[in-house]
Amino acid sequence: MELNILTLIYLIASVTFIIGLKMLSNPAAARKGNLVAAGGMTLAIIGTIFLYKDDAGERLHNYGWIFAGLAIGGIIGTLAAKKVKMTAMPEMVSLFNGMGGACAALISLVEFNHIAHQLSVNNSSEYIRQIQPTVLIIALGLIIGSVSFAGSMIAWGKLNGRIKDFSFPGQNILNLVFLAIALGAAVYLVIDPTQSYLLYVILLISLVYGVLFVMPIGGADMPVVISLLNSFTGVAAACGGFLYDNKVMLTGGILVGAAGTLLTMLMCKAMNRSLKNVLIGSFGGNKTQVAGDAGPQGHFKEISLTDAAMVMSYANKVIIVPGYGLAVAQAQHSCHELEKILNDKGVEVIYAIHPVAGRMPGHMNVLLAEADVAYEKLQEMEQANDEFKTADVVLILGANDVVNPAAKTDPASPIYGMPILEVEQAKTVIVNKRSMKPGYAGIENDLFFQPKTSMLFGDAKKVLQDLCAEVKNV
Ligand code: NDP
Repeated sequence: MELNILTLIYLIASVTFIIGLKMLSNPAAARKGNLVAAGGMTLAIIGTIFLYKDDAGERLHNYGWIFAGLAIGGIIGTLAAKKVKMTAMPEMVSLFNGMGGACAALISLVEFNHIAHQLSVNNSSEYIRQIQPTVLIIALGLIIGSVSFAGSMIAWGKLNGRIKDFSFPGQNILNLVFLAIALGAAVYLVIDPTQSYLLYVILLISLVYGVLFVMPIGGADMPVVISLLNSFTGVAAACGGFLYDNKVMLTGGILVGAAGTLLTMLMCKAMNRSLKNVLIGSFGGNKTQVAGDAGPQGHFKEISLTDAAMVMSYANKVIIVPGYGLAVAQAQHSCHELEKILNDKGVEVIYAIHPVAGRMPGHMNVLLAEADVAYEKLQEMEQANDEFKTADVVLILGANDVVNPAAKTDPASPIYGMPILEVEQAKTVIVNKRSMKPGYAGIENDLFFQPKTSMLFGDAKKVLQDLCAEVKNV
């Protein structure tokens, strides 16, 4: 009866994961979706702790360890999530994802120990045949979990600037050799599970592979890699689900694996790059042009706050392009304020959202939703690119790479091929940033030197607040 209640709990939890995931696809429902899925997960954890029985009918008994682990993890997770700045979110996602990978790898180590113990009592060929499928799942969970853990830790270090891109000639071939050794050792372990040292060979090689695999991937490709590693963790968790015959772990793992894979593919599409190119292309890792080195090219024009306010007040249509700088300055509320003031003056205002603007997928959508900007005012890149020619003014707020024409015109540029917001089709372009320094990809932006572009220097929040005051006075 209790088992049936647990099965029912797992079913409910699985359904909440699916509903939660669906709700995450809409910014308005995303917060609730997260809560729904988290509620399901809590139910599944509590159900497992109190209702699970093993094959011998034994309940879990080491409650002290379980609750101590839950309390420590819960407190650290809550504090980290509350403290994290929006701009540091990808780092946190990467760190937490790494923990998931580590869990999956640890499960494999613990479960193989049980098997090794039984093998020391009975290593008959019949018993070995019986446990081979389990060893296969253990080895897969170990490889995928360790790669995900090591790769996520490197990604975390790179995103917070502690680790620099690193590559050397022949690295991709060496990576393939490491992967082949890990897979070969796994196959051998499945054939002969008494060779338990192979488990540690697999662990070590997979960790090294995870590090080497992420080390050369640079710049704008990091979110794609994080998403890919996220899907790895999902698959590793699903391996745990197989091991324990635990349906909810299996469902959760498969959902994370599938969602991560889909997101990876969508991001590659947004950047117009194949996954292979992302993984071995060293995007931004070996920058060919670095603006800081080259210095600003040509002449740029500045515009005063008063003139910018004037131009916008007399426009029919203003398109705002938000970027990473808007998030850094936490200027979303001032931005919405400017939109409302311009609306009151009869100016139509919409937002053009690039799929990789900011530092994580959906960064701008979340930021603007936080400031209550109406969702229908946000236009996706393709839609926005049709609209720019009808705009009198494009106001770029802390965006750089996503409006860099080099992506279309300069085959030598590391961002060549990435679709961009074609802002130069508008009559006037005003760019707000603090200096002429480059953006994330570290490259010059020709847009700033074009005749129709004017630079409005300053911190986005301060500039927007001053612009609001000026526009009111026009
Ligand atoms: P960029 O990083 O290209 O440019 C941001 C600009 O904002 C900088 O040039 C900076 O210039 C300016 N800035 C910084 N702080 C402020 C501030 N307080 N006020 C005003 N301006 C400020 O950002 P984009 O959004 O254009 O492009 C995103 C980049 O990040 C792309 O290369 C993308 O591929 C990459 N990326 C995207 C991820 C995603 O999933 N969205 C994840 C990881 C990377 P200055 O210093 O002169 O002020």
